Amino acid sequence: MYYLIILLVYAAVDAIACLGLSQQFGVAGVTNFGFIIFQAAGAYVAAVLALPKDTADGGFQTYIGGYGLHFPLPWIGAAVAGGVLALPFTFLVGRRLRGDFAAVGLLVTAVLLNLLVMNYRPLFNGDAGVALVPAPLSSGMFVSTSNNYQYGFAIAGMILVAVAYWFVRRITESPYGRTLRAMRDNDKVADSLGKNLLALRTGAMVTGGAIAGLSGAILVSFIGVWSPAAWSYAETIVLFTAVIIGGAGNHLGAILGAVLVPVGFEEVTRFISNNDPSLPPNLLPSLQWVAIGLLIVVFLWVRPQGVLPERRRVIKLPDRASTPAPARVRDEDGAGGAILSVADVTKDFGGVHAVAGVSLSVGRGSLTGLIGPNGAGKSTLLSLLAGTEKVSSGRITYLGSDITGRPAFRRARIGLVRTFQLASEFKRLTVMENLLSAVPANRGDSFLGALAGRRYWRRDEAAATARAADLLERFGLAAKANDYAGELSGGQRRLVEIMRALMTEPDLLLLDEPMAGVHPELARRIGQALRELCRQGMTILMVEHELAIMDEFCDPVIVMADGRVLAEGTMAELRGRTEVVEAYLVG
Ligand code: ADP
Ligand code: MG
Repeated sequence: MYYLIILLVYAAVDAIACLGLSQQFGVAGVTNFGFIIFQAAGAYVAAVLALPKDTADGGFQTYIGGYGLHFPLPWIGAAVAGGVLALPFTFLVGRRLRGDFAAVGLLVTAVLLNLLVMNYRPLFNGDAGVALVPAPLSSGMFVSTSNNYQYGFAIAGMILVAVAYWFVRRITESPYGRTLRAMRDNDKVADSLGKNLLALRTGAMVTGGAIAGLSGAILVSFIGVWSPAAWSYAETIVLFTAVIIGGAGNHLGAILGAVLVPVGFEEVTRFISNNDPSLPPNLLPSLQWVAIGLLIVVFLWVRPQGVLPERRRVIKLPDRASTPAPARVRDEDGAGGAILSVADVTKDFGGVHAVAGVSLSVGRGSLTGLIGPNGAGKSTLLSLLAGTEKVSSGRITYLGSDITGRPAFRRARIGLVRTFQLASEFKRLTVMENLLSAVPANRGDSFLGALAGRRYWRRDEAAATARAADLLERFGLAAKANDYAGELSGGQRRLVEIMRALMTEPDLLLLDEPMAGVHPELARRIGQALRELCRQGMTILMVEHELAIMDEFCDPVIVMADGRVLAEGTMAELRGRTEVVEAYLVG
């Protein structure tokens, strides 16, 4: 019986930890290879908050604090500690560093912190760890060793699993959760659509850290001891295995993985090994590692999506009759003036002068074309304008203000939005979700808004869904609304990207070869739609290869070659200029 209770409590602890990791890794795509640090911090903090002062230096153990606090304060403190501890790590996973670099950084940090705690005794009693941690509510009529108490503990653990599940689910199934998944699928694109990656990743780190901290508190309250051996970096790998096998991005899968991997494997075999004296003592633990390694390999091979894959979120399209598309009202005052001007902008990649001093301006309400041979620097120029890349020198002015130093997501929020030359849909979001993810100012697109619940953001979501349905109808993709964007044809994906950019209601839209790989007939329809948008007040700067498209839709057209602007004018004028024809033919 006691054995069963232990398994239940371990299952609860692992399930809660896996839910935190599932949110962080499966949903937000933050690969935190130092996850165990946060569980450990929660355990230590819960321990020193619950332990009395008088054993703090009682000879047999040393630790900071010793506050003798009563339940539930140590557990709350543990969750807070896990969350706060995550803050300094956000510089690792923030905006710039590549995800795999950050993962290695976190792994190394986990090893270093373990060594530090192991060798610095005044903190948490070093290698020996803290012991005799009081169990919650264990004084008086509750005796922590009684069977009923233990059962109660296991049940409380289960309830907390349910609460943690409810919590991560509420976040995940909100517009904010959708934004996290968009960032997971393609962070550069999320950035270009106005998402603050640093804030989003900080949120994911803090949430996961707090949940991990809570799991540590539960564990240490149950077993009464906590030492560096309990939180080696390898424990993180066990939890990752659980989440991947259970199904990354599916919180029920995380719970299942917690039961299958850490509990099923580690704990069960640990009990067998204790009971069987004929086996060498280290054989089973080593075999566990072999088994975990094999399990990962097998799963990544045959079922990378896990036992319970992330489920597709089907969003019902609103009835056509009831969708009054809210037409955007624009002030036409500045029509004709420049919405964007660029002064002597350059970009060097090492020795390559991708953009070598470009000055130009884009007239408000125009559909400006940008052509030039391959490698002319067109895409790089768009990246500089949108803020995806930083300029080496020069100045960019948008709507009268200098935006040269502004990050991409801030430019997107003031209406300067781009698309990418290479496919950039959010693959594991449906077409509809791709569109919805770009909507600015949804009340549910923040941590607190998500927690407030569906009723708080339902109206924003419905309005956005109506707009998206309208666009899908206009571009003839309504039938694909609930398909994964990653499963569309190349042309359809280009359409999704254009529509997604339009969902942000941009003032200046930068399109990088939007019609590449698109059927000519569809390309013409896109061109007409873009022209119509410009008539309504939008400005578009479009890179395009197809001269026929330029002829038909763009005025003026800017020609680039070798990182410079060669000429500007109508296509008819440009065709008459020999240097343009030469550059194009040579390129
Ligand atoms: P275009 O879009 O006009 O075909 P690009 O802007 O993509 O041209 O590229 C311009 C030049 O800059 C090319 O020589 C390309 O190799 C180089 N380049 C672009 N991006 C990078 C990068 N991230 N690192 C190094 N070189 C780059
Ligand atoms: Mg290009």
